[in-house]
Amino acid sequence: MAVRNRMSKTNIEHDYAVDRELYSGLIRLHVLHHAAEEPIFGLGMLEELTRHGYRISPGTLYPLLHGLEKKGYLRATERRSGKSLRKVYRATPLGKQALAAAKSKVRELFRELIEGK
Ligand SMILES: [Zn+2]
Repeated sequence: MAVRNRMSKTNIEHDYAVDRELYSGLIRLHVLHHAAEEPIFGLGMLEELTRHGYRISPGTLYPLLHGLEKKGYLRATERRSGKSLRKVYRATPLGKQALAAAKSKVRELFRELIEGK
């Protein structure tokens, strides 16, 4: 009974775009990808993720950025933007290594999910 209730709730009300657990790895890889290419900052990354159809709040993104920084994948520096200081993030060599390793996993998954191989 409880299971059925949960299932119907999932089918009818659940918004997959906010399924944080399911997408958190994808979002982290996405962030890492952009941080490996150029310095990123929170608001810009929020806009980028929104453009890709993810609904993510600052309250989710900022801890995620800090988490990647703690792992040594991102390095944060402060940059002046007008009168305020803005925190910008870049991928570290370790972050780039982690991204490269993840890419081969993504390629593998893509083959199976999308190409059916
Ligand atoms: Zn992107």
